Amino acid sequence: MSTNENQSTSNFIRHIINNDLKQNKNNGRVATRFPPEPNGYLHIGHAKSICLNFGTAAEYQGTCNLRFDDTNPEKESIEYMESIERDVKWLGFEWHELRHASDYFEQLYQYAVDLIKQDKAYVDSLSPEEIRQYRGTLTEPGKESPDRSRSIEENLRLFEGMRNGDFADGQYVLRAKIDMASPNINMRDPAIYRIRRAHHHRTGDQWCIYPMYDYTHCISDALENITHSLCTLEFEDHRPLYDWVLDQLDVPCHPQQIEFARLQLEYSIVSKRKLNQLVMEKHVDGWDDPRMPTLAGLRRAGVTPNAIRDFCERIGITKKDSWIEMAVLENSIREDLNENSPRAMAVLKPLRIVIDNYPEDQVESLDISNHPQHPEMGSRNIQFSKTVLIEHDDFAEVPPSGFKRLINGGEVRLRGAYVIKCNEISKDEQGNIVELRCTYDPDTLGKNPEGRKVKGVIHWVSEQHSVPAELRLYDRLFNHPNPDTLTNFLDALNPHSLEVLKYCRVESSLATSAPGSRFQFERLGYFCRDLQDTDKGVMVFNRTVTLRDTWGK
Ligand code: ATP
Ligand code: MG
Repeated sequence: MSTNENQSTSNFIRHIINNDLKQNKNNGRVATRFPPEPNGYLHIGHAKSICLNFGTAAEYQGTCNLRFDDTNPEKESIEYMESIERDVKWLGFEWHELRHASDYFEQLYQYAVDLIKQDKAYVDSLSPEEIRQYRGTLTEPGKESPDRSRSIEENLRLFEGMRNGDFADGQYVLRAKIDMASPNINMRDPAIYRIRRAHHHRTGDQWCIYPMYDYTHCISDALENITHSLCTLEFEDHRPLYDWVLDQLDVPCHPQQIEFARLQLEYSIVSKRKLNQLVMEKHVDGWDDPRMPTLAGLRRAGVTPNAIRDFCERIGITKKDSWIEMAVLENSIREDLNENSPRAMAVLKPLRIVIDNYPEDQVESLDISNHPQHPEMGSRNIQFSKTVLIEHDDFAEVPPSGFKRLINGGEVRLRGAYVIKCNEISKDEQGNIVELRCTYDPDTLGKNPEGRKVKGVIHWVSEQHSVPAELRLYDRLFNHPNPDTLTNFLDALNPHSLEVLKYCRVESSLATSAPGSRFQFERLGYFCRDLQDTDKGVMVFNRTVTLRDTWGK
């Protein structure tokens, strides 16, 4: 038995499990499951649940299943299922078994027959609207349906007819017979089966009735011998129903449902339904748009699985809903990328520098370290030549006070190379700066100039040795911290969430980088070679995150 006493963060779920283990509950076994509905791509909120379920199982040498909760065929698809499997693996987890609620359709049906035989379920002909009216309110008890007293035989016959397709969609539902006066509305005879002629991506047209979530979930857990069924707080009020269903039936075990707070992330949306709307209405470029809080989007932006797991560990598991600041996620991303991504140079908006005293045909190959703190990450060669490109913004004709970069008549260091001095500005007829005439100090390679201080250091690439690239600067998708709380979350879309820079230049070593490779572009931020740029003819890099948290400043 392993406990977590030495873990850096503890949570109330570990306490519960530790107690269960002390009492040898479940014979010391820990079995969890992650149960997504395949109706969209996984998002950062799901990552919290994945890390919790798989992480807890691993911590106690237990098992964790991936189970698709596939009882709403109209909204579900194979594409979503495959994306979920890919994303769970990408996050670094391996499931014990891959299951589907639809694997249990026959068993679920037989259990429902069992409930009917015990007079604990009945076929109701009330319309959905009538069922709502009969349900009562928080302050008033519900009213019993006239069909509640239908005989067991009649119920069995009608339920079989539902299965056989004898009735129209919506004509009947099967309801659990619990208590129409229960203070908990979920216990007022909830529907457990409905008629729905919908093609299921796994069972095809085999069924025209589908079990409801609450009924399906607890039985699926029990059939998989789950010990701890971890779910989000909105299911707290459903727990009595979870327990009621299992108490009536002869199931292999009775898992314990434990609720924890959902992740809510500021400036973001964690609802598959709304994310789906963003995709369908083309507010973003697909589920894997780097601005999306989906795992596919985060991956394409360049976020590592490590950073996401670290984030989930940091936010912890509690019983209280709260909003997590975007900065918490961004810090996890930054810390990971700072440690692990090689440095490179890229210029967003190039300005040409001609070094007049540098020999025309000379090219120097400078050895530049890939990571200042990690010599083991090696170094690369960067070519230096007579014409280099610097960032347009790193030169100021009329410098603001405190400007430490290049000014006319001033000096600046080109990172990893020499100190240069600007002597003259060349402009076109419209007055735009075309290039700067400079000189370099040959004595300043890797050392400070004699007798004077040069404060600024800027990045650069050699014009003739660099390669063109498109850089995409992504920003937060929403400009409101809680878009979910607005009447229309689309009102909070940030119109400046993407800036595409098509005429960037990057150092030549990047030409052979594989899609998905991550870099810190010196002074610009963390970037990732786009996973889908191979057919574009030009390299594309997505900005994962800025170097520092400057958002909103
Ligand atoms: P959505 O509204 O995005 O569809 P959901 O809860 O309906 O969310 P499911 O596919 O049913 O999505 O979720 C699978 C598991 O992930 C569930 O156990 C659910 O509680 C958990 N989960 C979903 N969203 C979050 C979140 N924001 N924070 C933590 N866990 C979540
Ligand atoms: Mg759901």
